[in-house]
Amino acid sequence: MLSETEETGFSAGSFYQSDNQLRQAFMQAPGALAILRGPESLCEFNNLLFQKICGGRDLLNKPLRQAWHDPEGGEWFRMLEEVYKTGETAHKYEYAVTADWDSDGNLSERFFDFACSPYRSAGNDIDGLILFGHDVTVKVQARQQFAEQQLLFKDITDAAATALWTVDTKGDIIFVNQTWIDWTGEPYDVHLGRGWIEFVVPLDREQVINNFRRDVNLKSQYQVDFRVLRKDGCTQWVAATGKPRYLSNGEFAGYVGSCMDITERKKSEQMLRDSEERFRNIADSAPVLIWMTGVDKRTTFLNKNWTQFANVAELLSDNGHLQSSLMHPNDKEMVITSYNQAFDNREEFYLEYRMKSGEDFRWIGMKGVPRMNAGVFEGYIGSGMDITDMKEHEQVKNDFIGMASHELKTPITSIKAYIQLLLSIYKDRSEDEFLLKSLNTVNKQINKLTRLITDLLDVSKMESGRLSLNCEPFVLNDVLKETIEEVQHTATHHDIVFTPAPSYTVNADRDRIAQVMTNFLTNAIKYSPESDRIDVKVSATEHEVKIAVQDYGIGINPEEQAKIFNRFYRVEGKNEQTFSGFGIGLYVAAEIIKRHSGHVWVQSEKSNGSAFYFSLPLYRYEA
Ligand code: ADP
Repeated sequence: MLSETEETGFSAGSFYQSDNQLRQAFMQAPGALAILRGPESLCEFNNLLFQKICGGRDLLNKPLRQAWHDPEGGEWFRMLEEVYKTGETAHKYEYAVTADWDSDGNLSERFFDFACSPYRSAGNDIDGLILFGHDVTVKVQARQQFAEQQLLFKDITDAAATALWTVDTKGDIIFVNQTWIDWTGEPYDVHLGRGWIEFVVPLDREQVINNFRRDVNLKSQYQVDFRVLRKDGCTQWVAATGKPRYLSNGEFAGYVGSCMDITERKKSEQMLRDSEERFRNIADSAPVLIWMTGVDKRTTFLNKNWTQFANVAELLSDNGHLQSSLMHPNDKEMVITSYNQAFDNREEFYLEYRMKSGEDFRWIGMKGVPRMNAGVFEGYIGSGMDITDMKEHEQVKNDFIGMASHELKTPITSIKAYIQLLLSIYKDRSEDEFLLKSLNTVNKQINKLTRLITDLLDVSKMESGRLSLNCEPFVLNDVLKETIEEVQHTATHHDIVFTPAPSYTVNADRDRIAQVMTNFLTNAIKYSPESDRIDVKVSATEHEVKIAVQDYGIGINPEEQAKIFNRFYRVEGKNEQTFSGFGIGLYVAAEIIKRHSGHVWVQSEKSNGSAFYFSLPLYRYEA
């Protein structure tokens, strides 16, 4: 037969043995239950849970003290005695017990709220105590979890580099994190309510408040930049942003937001503004026209001089370009085409054109360069100068050169004719050897002078756009041979060696090509006094023919090579000073070849001779 304990799951003495139903009720009670008898608290019965709390020991008819753990130094038992004495129910909350609750070998902690009530006999005397423990583990654990979450939240917010805050609907602070406290150097409580406003620089307060009032009405995102008064006496720029906050029931509760330190950003913005201001001041005080564009060719900046120069209210048209009516009608197309071409190829450009200044047109020399920032194209910057005076001087000079060379040409032609006549008369008279020699020398010098005057006249024609070409197809070799022969005739030291090539036909101005060849050959002779040979070679590709004149003379430094084709440019150096010249031969040659859609160039090394080249498009006969 089973013992009572085994049968019912709880122990009982004489108490309620007769009332099985009540015992069942105690057994099923959702908590730990024990009935204690007498001042020693003899355990008259306890249910299984109570037994578990007592470390699984059977306490039946034993004093509670034998099994009950009293962590507060006897506090429990004093409470039991008190209840016994006074008859008042007493409580002990969240009594923690570690046990193997599910009998699976795993220990865990549970919490119980205990109530201790007196048990009275029929005569109303206090006969014993009823101890009931209610399992509150879930509640305690939820609270612990909540506390841990709060701690975590605090750690996270305190670790943030930005200040975090929460305000109610009136703008009163209900939370700030440690970052804000560190910035201001004042403890948490100081900032609560309206305390925080004291740490906003007075000048910024109005905007901070006004923005809040505006946004809180609309319940929209809050945004304001302001300065914080720091504990070290400095001010610090912050960007405050806030998001409307709603409770779980949907009620608007204020804002939660952050303040980000933007002092560095503000500093660099200020520096940028300062440097822009400086640039503007410099640009405005410079006596030139300065402009800038973006990548879309639209003008982004014009300095003050533009307004003074053009003297119109609107400098720019709707498309962001300079009003085209400001440009001279004859130059407009050239300017627009050249500008667009340079811009699209990201190339530097220099243009000379006329622009309206008040009622007149004035010449402008305009230079533009691409603006690059760390390799990224950002548009163009350029400057223009009024070059009207220079142009006028140039015109006067050109007119003078034109007129002088023209006037010189007539007497020289006449002198040349007489010399030719005298030469033909005296050429067979050996007794007049001195006269013949003198006539030949004069003839050579006159030829030189004629070439010089022709070149000068050509320069003036080119400058004023009056140089015309009489193009016709001809065999290049013929002209080259003729020219070489002519120059060879006057050369005393040099042998001009012409390597024959297939016959190439070009469509060009015969005389002008001969003039280029003569210039190259006479230079080759002039600048190679120590040598005695000049080579002329002809080669061709599918589309063009190339002529090379190679000498073995003084050569040209690389840095001079690009400049020698400029008008009036002569290489300076003690060697070069011994050679007479004007610096126009190569300029004229280059201009002539350019007008034939060809190219001129040089390959040379100082002291090692030079090779001058020109190329011309090959003529294709089209029926
Ligand atoms: P110039 O009348 O001075 O010869 P050019 O226009 O013909 O004028 O030539 C310009 C300059 O180029 C010359 O002053 C000279 O310094 C240089 N130059 C031209 N041809 C040669 C050459 N074959 N060898 C070395 N230097 C040359």
